[in-house]
Amino acid sequence: MNKKIIDHHMHTNFSPDADPKATMELYIQAAREKGIEGIMFTDHVDFDYPTPIFDDMIDYDLYQKEIERVRAKENFKVFMGVEMGYQPHLNQMMSDFLKSYPFDFVICSIHVGDRLDFYNGDFFKGKTQKEAYMRYYEIVLNAVRSYDDYDVFGHLDYIIRYGGFENRSYLLKDYADILDQILTTIIKKGKGIEINTSGIRYGLGVLHPGIDLLKRYKELGGKIVTFGSDAHKVYDYYDGFEEAKKMLIEAGFEYITVFQKRIPEFVKI
Ligand SMILES: [Zn+2]
Ligand SMILES: [Zn+2]
Repeated sequence: MNKKIIDHHMHTNFSPDADPKATMELYIQAAREKGIEGIMFTDHVDFDYPTPIFDDMIDYDLYQKEIERVRAKENFKVFMGVEMGYQPHLNQMMSDFLKSYPFDFVICSIHVGDRLDFYNGDFFKGKTQKEAYMRYYEIVLNAVRSYDDYDVFGHLDYIIRYGGFENRSYLLKDYADILDQILTTIIKKGKGIEINTSGIRYGLGVLHPGIDLLKRYKELGGKIVTFGSDAHKVYDYYDGFEEAKKMLIEAGFEYITVFQKRIPEFVKI
């Protein structure tokens, strides 16, 4: 793997849902062992989450200091990214927060819909599978239309991970119109998407998004794609990148995107 292909989605022990042993130093050590030239931490900021898990917000003054400390101590390229959990009533709060710190990269993710948690199943109650997926994509479309302060949209078809349905795959054609609207809005606004490799670890056997959606993104003119393992423990760092690379090439891409100071750089795959 090209040493410039940096994992753009990972959680350290600053995130409340990550392994307490997943320190920045251990991730840097793992990056060094793989010969990767830098590391991008993207811990969680989920304001107003419906369950208490994210109530203890990371102290970003401290976080920034820790990034600077390990950068100096390890003499390594350490970038400060963030995964923002989007909800429509938080637009202003999210932008204000992002202005306060020198982030290199921002993922916009949806973990909550209509103030209901996906993870605990609340969002799916009283909905068929199709209704749940459609409502999720409506929420995504609203987000990409009304919110601009991000670089890539996180795990675009993440909804398939939850809900406990027997058949968790979905047919692109069932959601073709709304997905086209989502993708064209992302592209028109100069934003990108990620290939999130965690689907393999969650037993879905697919990456987020899958090949069909990635091909469609390319057809519509999409260029910006980052790779992210969504590791919550050091063991999962950089996991699934060979599969992601294979899929990216299959979809017709020649470049992958890396970010620094919120500016995209295109790296040959
Ligand atoms: Zn996420
Ligand atoms: Zn994540």
